[in-house]
Amino acid sequence: MDGRFSLSDQMNSLQMVKMELGPIGTNAYLLWEDGGKDAVLIDAPPDSKDTVESYLAKESLRLSELWLTHGHWDHMAGAAELLNDEISVIGHRADKMLFEQPDVMSTFAMPGMNFEPVSITKWVDEGDALNLFGRKVSVYHCPGHCPGNLIFWVEDEKICFVGDVIFEGSVGRADLPGGDFETLTHSIQTKVYNLPEDTEICPGHGENTTVGSERRSNPFVRPL
Ligand SMILES: [Zn+2]
Repeated sequence: MDGRFSLSDQMNSLQMVKMELGPIGTNAYLLWEDGGKDAVLIDAPPDSKDTVESYLAKESLRLSELWLTHGHWDHMAGAAELLNDEISVIGHRADKMLFEQPDVMSTFAMPGMNFEPVSITKWVDEGDALNLFGRKVSVYHCPGHCPGNLIFWVEDEKICFVGDVIFEGSVGRADLPGGDFETLTHSIQTKVYNLPEDTEICPGHGENTTVGSERRSNPFVRPL
């Protein structure tokens, strides 16, 4: 999927493109405000540079922040070639080793890939808030798929970026190193499922869904 849509009808509405990138189809999201100059990218799959930079050029934007939902290679390996010293990079400390020594993931990736490390410039954690062009973004730590998965909830826009915590009708793998299904279940039940039902979930793979829809029908994790 590769579509552009407007998220609100405020004067400076938030714009977002969802890009499915890299060898295993990882979603990255580019966000900016109508009339604005800065853009925020959520996740940087391998080989995302050309696609991301073509949107930046088309909209006359400069990438100012990269928010990494977690340290798995398919979400971060495209970061190094996109970054410069002026871009702040956000991640959770529990995935520090994955960000800084991504080759530890080579056995779980495609043969022949090698990964450039990424330097996180701002570690964030549960309870922190980020600023998306004046909109408050609440940060939650949702481990279980990997130790450092963050979710970013933009209450004003009723959207939440969840990385690989939960998908439409599915949940993230818990069998990779650092994963744990019980921990993942707890993260989903106590954090994702506590968001308002009409919150749109923007996942790291596949189609968007809503909190209400997953609460009602996700077969892997039922609400408490
Ligand atoms: Zn992952």
